Amino acid sequence: MEQTSIAALSTPPGRGGLAVIRISGPQAESVLRSLFIPVKRDVTGFDERKMMFGKLIHQGKLLDECMAVLFRAPRSYTREDVAEIHVHASEQVINSVLHAVFSLGAIPAAPGEFTRRAFENGRLDLSQAEAVMQLIAASGQQAADAALRQLQGGALRFVQAAQAQLISLMAGVTAAIDYPEEIDEAEAVGNIAPQLRALAGELERQGSLQTARILEEGLQVVICGKPNVGKSSLLNALLHEERAIVTDIPGTTRDAVTGSTQIGGIRVNLKDTAGIRQSGETVEQLGIKRALDAVKSADLRLFVLDRSCLPDVEDEQVLHAITGLPSVLVINKSDLPDHPGFAHWINSHRDRLPENTIHLSASTGEGLDSLRQAIHAQAGQPEHSALTLARHIRLASQAAGSLRNAAQAMEEGLPLDICAVDLNDALASLGRITGDNSSEELLDEVFAAFCVGK
Ligand code: GDP
Repeated sequence: MEQTSIAALSTPPGRGGLAVIRISGPQAESVLRSLFIPVKRDVTGFDERKMMFGKLIHQGKLLDECMAVLFRAPRSYTREDVAEIHVHASEQVINSVLHAVFSLGAIPAAPGEFTRRAFENGRLDLSQAEAVMQLIAASGQQAADAALRQLQGGALRFVQAAQAQLISLMAGVTAAIDYPEEIDEAEAVGNIAPQLRALAGELERQGSLQTARILEEGLQVVICGKPNVGKSSLLNALLHEERAIVTDIPGTTRDAVTGSTQIGGIRVNLKDTAGIRQSGETVEQLGIKRALDAVKSADLRLFVLDRSCLPDVEDEQVLHAITGLPSVLVINKSDLPDHPGFAHWINSHRDRLPENTIHLSASTGEGLDSLRQAIHAQAGQPEHSALTLARHIRLASQAAGSLRNAAQAMEEGLPLDICAVDLNDALASLGRITGDNSSEELLDEVFAAFCVGK
């Protein structure tokens, strides 16, 4: 079947300086030639990979003055012929150019279809195709860096090395199955099982689902404490802006106030909760319920105390809500003298308080950097992981599970063909990361998350 030519707007819709319409497929050049008249009349050859200035004319009507560039297969993003038309980003211009392009035979591209074609034509593996999407959606510098590492083949190289190691281990198993006389099974198994376990461990160390989620969505941090300890002030200080309402009437920050910032390249989503305390007021009770839910689901809790007052039963209620969950104790108002009983209270609650303690002043900013470091430490170290996308980490952990099953079956003395089934499962899981043995369903699932034009 003749491959279709697809076209779409590849820049975000709306007004702006430029909009790029991309066409890929065998008709890309003919569509461009039908619409685009270069100003330099001698550019008859439509030089490849050279920006040309000219006019877009369809059915005798001028659509725009524009720049256009042609990439001939295979030296293009999709490895097909690709034409890019850079027009003024006006809704009218974009619509009329797309209309003309479609009337000349191109069809609208499906979400992610340019990148899917790049994958299908072997320019990228599946993990690199996903890196394009990860980069576009990156919420923090570290997420962008991880996407770029993956686009450069970071995940691909790691998975290929694991595949190569697995294939050589499988060769040992196959040899023991095929030549039972020559190869002593116990010896073969004794060598292979520990190596399978080691490979499983390596696969699991190369990325955690939590780190992947934090890269994708950011670290969820909840600021909790009773009213007036300085939660809103702390949120503002971390965000460097006046976002929450700072007042000295307890209980005024009823609902969660949120804000988002970057700390050490990680997106950090901060939530300042309503005070967690007994209240007869329904509005406040609702806020308390929501605050408790947020406290439980966050990655990190900042438990704020005001050192100028003696902590009381309300602080204990908050402490109760965070006990056992990853938290930092923030002792606020370090610019004020501490209450004479404060240190004693801390000592007598030491075993229940978060170990990590930061003294700071939300008003003066003193100590904020230590808090930023403590928050950053909670995000893990995505820069040390080869795998940073949840889909890849799940598949690597499935592969590790199959490897462990195979090792266990070997150690229990089950027939080696049973182990071979597990080993094949492991190989198949790894293949799904890079798209070696990808089904239509898998590709549909991966590319459906892309936007049109990518
Ligand atoms: P929240 O109810 O916990 O959100 O507390 P707020 O942020 O509204 O602060 C309550 C009061 O404490 C306000 O008057 C703030 O100006 C004051 N406050 C907050 N942090 C500090 C601090 O570090 N030092 C001093 N001196 N006052 C603070």
